[in-house]
Amino acid sequence: MLDGNEWVINGSKIFITNSATDISAVCVVQCVTDSSDPRKPEVSCILVENGTKGFIAEKMHGKMCWRSSNTGLLTFQDCRVPKENLLGGRGEGFHQMLKTLDGGRLSIGAMGLGGAQGAFELALDYSKKRQQFGRPIGSFQANAFKLADMATEIEMARLLLYKACWLKDNDRLTPKYGAMAKLVCSETYYRAANHAVQMHGGYGLMKDYAVERHYRNQKLLDIGEGTSEVQRIVIARNIGVPGRSM
Ligand SMILES: Cc1cc2nc3c(=O)[nH]c(=O)nc-3n(C[C@H](O)[C@H](O)[C@H](O)COP(=O)(O)OP(=O)(O)OC[C@H]3O[C@@H](n4cnc5c(N)ncnc54)[C@H](O)[C@@H]3O)c2cc1C
Repeated sequence: MLDGNEWVINGSKIFITNSATDISAVCVVQCVTDSSDPRKPEVSCILVENGTKGFIAEKMHGKMCWRSSNTGLLTFQDCRVPKENLLGGRGEGFHQMLKTLDGGRLSIGAMGLGGAQGAFELALDYSKKRQQFGRPIGSFQANAFKLADMATEIEMARLLLYKACWLKDNDRLTPKYGAMAKLVCSETYYRAANHAVQMHGGYGLMKDYAVERHYRNQKLLDIGEGTSEVQRIVIARNIGVPGRSM
């Protein structure tokens, strides 16, 4: 709420990337700035600098993946910032965040595509080197088909992501394409990492081999920046599916 010339912020948000490092400078907080109409609260974005009184950023520990990426828990207790810290206009917060998410989903898509390509290359390389029954394991049809599926799906994901990036470059990106690109690239990575571990057999479970890390790292992409279920909801809403789909 606005108190004189200051916003007073109360609340908390868990799982915020890069928010609790020594060099984290500022966060953008999506707040309800007017709740006089409970059916249509006004949502705005406000900038809060690290070190502001009443703003606490705590590191979260114990993630199974992406351990070099900082994740923080943010708490705001009667945190006061100047009213000039409002980002854009009052009531624009929801739209600002949705627009940011559309672009962010392309970044997650790119991580998924690159990860899938990496897992595929490791699997292909291993399939040529590892011998069983006097043959490289890639010569077994079960493994060759996995590699063929990986290469094909990666190419499909690449085309969709590139289309979405082209739309963004031309200021025509819609929520549907952001969600489709993120969903397809992260799920392509899921299948590629799974196949890559399977093709490494027992070694696939060992930390000495990079496919193990792909298998863990992939999971964040199904969850961060909106889960895969939420991407399907966004797509359904934007292709004319009736009802709220949620
Ligand atoms: C490492 C990490 C970094 C993150 N960084 C950020 C960040 O920088 N900024 C930020 O704002 N957030 C960040 N997040 C939060 C992330 O976006 C959320 O975790 C994610 O959106 C899921 O929300 P949730 O954890 O509350 O799960 P929940 O909403 O509790 O969902 C639990 C399950 O139920 C499903 N579900 C929930 N609602 C529905 C529905 N209506 N229909 C169908 N299925 C549903 C979900 O898909 C999921 O499978 C981060 C999360 C992680 C793990």
